[in-house]
Amino acid sequence: CGIVGFIGKQEASPLLVEGLKRLEYRGYDSAGIATLSNGTIERRRAEGKICNLQQVLSTTPASGNVGIGHTRWATHGIPNKTNAHPHATEKVAVVHNGIIENFQEIRAELVKNGYHPLSETDSEVVPLLITYYLDQGANPRDAVSKTLKRLEGAFALGIIFAGEEDLLIGARRGSPLAVGFGDGEMYLGSDAMALAHLTKQIAYLEEGDWVILGREHVIFLDENDQEVQRDIKESAMSS
Ligand code: GLU
Repeated sequence: CGIVGFIGKQEASPLLVEGLKRLEYRGYDSAGIATLSNGTIERRRAEGKICNLQQVLSTTPASGNVGIGHTRWATHGIPNKTNAHPHATEKVAVVHNGIIENFQEIRAELVKNGYHPLSETDSEVVPLLITYYLDQGANPRDAVSKTLKRLEGAFALGIIFAGEEDLLIGARRGSPLAVGFGDGEMYLGSDAMALAHLTKQIAYLEEGDWVILGREHVIFLDENDQEVQRDIKESAMSS
C-alpha cells in the first residue's frame, strides 16, 4: 500500500518509520522495514499499527543508513507478520504495492528450482526471482531487469541488496512512485507526502520506469532499460 526508501548518512530506521506514518492515511493492516546493517539485511515487521512496529524496533533496533519500509493492505494472504513486507532472502529485501497477477506461475517455477516461499503473498515471488537470477550470476541491476520483464500486473517496488551499501532500486508499473533528492541522500516514496519530512525536491517515475539510486546519483531507466531524464519538481507539500 505505502512504500518508503532511504539511502543516506543518517540512521534509516526512524526516517522510514516517519515516512510510513505519513502514509497511514491510505489505510493498512501491517507494517515493516528492512535495513542494511554492515551489509546484512535486518528486517522488522508487525501486524497492525505502526506503533506495534515501533515497539519491535525499540527492543530490537535495525541499524544502518540504507533501508526500505512498507505499510501493507493485504490482497493475497491474510494480514499477519509472515505476510507483512518487506519480503526477503539473505540476498535481497523487497517492498511491493499492488498485485503480481502471474505470481502463481512464477512461484511454481521457483519451487521447481528449489526456491520456496515462506508467505502466502503474491509479492514474495519478487525477492525469490531476483535471488534466483543473482544465484545464476547476474549483478543486482541485471537481476532486477530480468525480474521486471517477468512480472505482470500493477506494482511499485523498493529493493535493497545485502552487501550493496550504495544501492536502492525502485520500480513503477501502475502504482505511483517518487524519488526524493537530498544532500548526499536519496529517497523513494509512494507519494510526495511520504517524503515531506526529508525533501521537497521530487521526481516522479513514469509508467514502466525503474530507478537506480546511490547517495550521490540517480539513474532513471525506462521499460526497455534505456536511460531517461525525469524532471525534478518542487513539491508543494509542507513538512
Ligand atoms: N499484494 C501485496 C500483498 O498482499 C501488496 C499489497 C499492498 O499493496 O499493500 O501483500
